Amino acid sequence: MNELNVPRPNNLDAYWMPYSDNKYFKANPRMIARAEGMSYFTPDGREILDGTAGLWCCNAGHGRREIKEAIQQQAAILDYAPTFQLGHPIAFEAAARIAELTPEGMDKVFFTNSGSESADTALKIALAYHKARGESSRVRLIGRERGYHGVGFGGMSVGGIGGNRKQFGALLPYVDHLPHTHGIEANLFAKGQPEHGAHLAEVLENLVALHGAETIAAVMVEPIAGSTGVLVPPKGYLERLRELCTKHGILLIFDEVITGFGRIGTPFGAERLGVTPDIITMAKGLTNAAVPMGAVAVRNGVYDAIVDGAPAGIELFHGYTYSGHPLAAAAAIATMELHRAEDLPGRARAIEPYWQEAAHSLRSSPNVIDIRDYGLIAGIELAPRAGKAGQRAMDVFRRCFDDGVLVRVTGDIVALSPPLIIEKPHVDRLIGTLDAAIRAEAA
Ligand code: PLP
Repeated sequence: MNELNVPRPNNLDAYWMPYSDNKYFKANPRMIARAEGMSYFTPDGREILDGTAGLWCCNAGHGRREIKEAIQQQAAILDYAPTFQLGHPIAFEAAARIAELTPEGMDKVFFTNSGSESADTALKIALAYHKARGESSRVRLIGRERGYHGVGFGGMSVGGIGGNRKQFGALLPYVDHLPHTHGIEANLFAKGQPEHGAHLAEVLENLVALHGAETIAAVMVEPIAGSTGVLVPPKGYLERLRELCTKHGILLIFDEVITGFGRIGTPFGAERLGVTPDIITMAKGLTNAAVPMGAVAVRNGVYDAIVDGAPAGIELFHGYTYSGHPLAAAAAIATMELHRAEDLPGRARAIEPYWQEAAHSLRSSPNVIDIRDYGLIAGIELAPRAGKAGQRAMDVFRRCFDDGVLVRVTGDIVALSPPLIIEKPHVDRLIGTLDAAIRAEAA
């Protein structure tokens, strides 16, 4: 280690990096040493504007003093205590604070440590719910093509990304996928929610006809699919999914790991999109990513069926050593307090029109074949280079980083999701640098 606690290049071997091209990275390391506000800093002090809030998670910006102090204070009071058959006050308080933000009637909160654990927890709760109500034949889980619900076996199986599934053989049985809503010609370059594609929700009726509603436990979708390149639901699509789930007694799960905590201008996406699911999963922005934490909020009736319906004893055989970890709970409360005090969802809404126009100004850049946006999210889709999917966007990513801006790429889509504290000059710099990188790559 040197004075900045940055490993020397010859120490890069041991760490097997997640979702990374390890060989390329270790030959060309891009290190981050420090973060503050809207920016990261490299070990040699270069500032990098964060266009992605880390991994869609540092919504309140980096290095927030209030969160740091809450973690420090909590560490001094209680470092850890189990939450199996034992409690500590701050976990209960964090759950109550989350319940204040979730849609009305979703007041029960289960803690996890990540989005992946939240996805698997939600699926298990859905199965346990039906069993508790005497409908144990409801075991089928329905996801959506291009959905991402993390890397646990449940989320990976219900998720719809081929690349994440093919390496791992047989996944969960009894899983189906709705079609994704992407690529409809008439929706290209739509601002906000696109007009066309609500009919794709009807495929759920086909699955019901095929398998019988009595076999289907849950439908899980991201309100806006982020990791596969910002796929915004067509107008009426989520509403129709809700109607069909209600009609057939199927639980609707929204994976709000990205859309939660102000990202689209309301505490949860369900509120802005006007559709209330039965279960919401969350993580990332919950603690501003300062400490890992996820959670699952459920409709009170779901909790009542499982908990009140069970005889005395453990009602749900599920939980993690670190569920409701005191340091994470402290970080979550401090984060939610910052969101409230600074009205971060309101800030996101206020700058959204400027953000939207700026993102769509890239329409005239070379190779841009679609642009999508909602809240403080944007996806800029590039035409793949002949026979080399993903390389054009990766090239753009590297150019942006070298020019002091962090963007995220997934396939040939550049995804943007800045901290909600972003201001107009940041937007100009982010989009200007991206534009220059797209043009330089094309030249
Ligand atoms: N669900 C969604 C919608 C996500 O975007 C992600 C991560 O990007 C996850 C789940 C998985 O979260 P984690 O990486 O914390 O396990």
